[in-house]
Amino acid sequence: MSGYQFFSPEEYRLLQECVHCGLCLGSCPTYMVNGREADSPRGRLSLMKYLDEDSAADTGGAYHHIDLCLGCLACQTACPSGVRYSQLLEKTRSYQRREVQPLGWSQRLLLRWFTERRRLGLITALVRLVQRTGLDRLVRSLRLLPPTLRFQLAGLPKVPNHAFSRAREPQLPAVAPDDQHQGAVALFTGCVMDHWYGEVHAATARILRWNGFDVALPEGQTCCGALHVHAGLEKEAEHLLARNRDVFMNVDAQALVVDAAGCGAQLRTSLWPDGDGLPVVDVFEWLATHITRPPRYKLTEKISYDAPCHLHHAQSITEEPYRLLELACEQLTPLPEAEMCCGSAGLYSLVHGNISRQVLARKIDYIRFVNPAVLVTGNPGCQLQLQAGLREAGIKASVRHAIQVLDNAYRRDEDYRYAFELAEDSGQL
Ligand code: SF4
Ligand code: SF4
Repeated sequence: MSGYQFFSPEEYRLLQECVHCGLCLGSCPTYMVNGREADSPRGRLSLMKYLDEDSAADTGGAYHHIDLCLGCLACQTACPSGVRYSQLLEKTRSYQRREVQPLGWSQRLLLRWFTERRRLGLITALVRLVQRTGLDRLVRSLRLLPPTLRFQLAGLPKVPNHAFSRAREPQLPAVAPDDQHQGAVALFTGCVMDHWYGEVHAATARILRWNGFDVALPEGQTCCGALHVHAGLEKEAEHLLARNRDVFMNVDAQALVVDAAGCGAQLRTSLWPDGDGLPVVDVFEWLATHITRPPRYKLTEKISYDAPCHLHHAQSITEEPYRLLELACEQLTPLPEAEMCCGSAGLYSLVHGNISRQVLARKIDYIRFVNPAVLVTGNPGCQLQLQAGLREAGIKASVRHAIQVLDNAYRRDEDYRYAFELAEDSGQL
């Protein structure tokens, strides 16, 4: 039977596809950390069923175990029965926040400040000031902030002088011979990526242009709403999606290219509910089939790739990053459990700092073992979390987006540097 508190009959049927085989348990980071059935995918699916049938009966803190889920979706790709965990988790969280436990004020505040472009601009200006004056090192050493915030501060990139999209024309032309022109694509600039990781967008735009694409940067873009969906705030996410829909609806391009895995997963499934808009593609997926001018020179540093969950599990983009990195790297060394979550998961690393760090610790052990000079990934949250973890562990490896690695290989080529007016020594990772 079903009380249908929040699942539709079809979703309740999906839930029952779980045959309790346990084959997903070994891929679940929270289960690996504490070994509790309630913090495993199988346990959480049982809790969802229990809550759906009697949502008022949360006597055992069932929602707490739902909260502790990273949403990494490793269980979804491990499940032989095809249980669509993502859909069920989103539905449960949405009901939880709407009807049972509204999201706490601190998380709401974080979401409001970090995903609204004007407010994020103010935070960015403050972070920039703190970084430029060396106050961040002082704050960290004096232990003035809670441990979780100090940890996150250590992983922040050096914030650039302005957001990527602010300093650019809305249309960047291809930089390739006429007979290699491949048309136009649009680039999703988002919120945190645009303000803090603008170098990644710059590298993406250069590589696309070098391979014959005009790159459109439509104005008015905003946050994709992924963090809101993970927090159970469906309505707020839809509001942001609607704004992006208006922006991209009439853009004349072949695809909307996204270079942040979390944004890509969200936009791919939710930007066009009827599936009739500009196709959303991840940058690795797009380049893997459209690269016509690969780098002439390879990087010699030892490089390892850590797969973002929202690329590997949510979008099933697994081989493409390796194929592109092989074009750029002489020594691409596999990282064990590269597809396992790093513990970042949006706001999770701030809200559940303890478990997040335990999940990260396992990955740091593997990185220490492999000892790459550069660790590459494809999502800003992962980049921040991994960089903070490496600093704390005293490991010297730097963390870069895979697109930056590809761009650095291109930068070894004088023609590429000349075309984009890059300095001669700008090819160092
Ligand atoms: S979610 Fe899939 S893998 Fe996990 S217990 Fe259920 S059927 Fe088995
Ligand atoms: S989404 Fe990740 S953390 Fe959540 S149950 Fe699945 S594997 Fe575990």
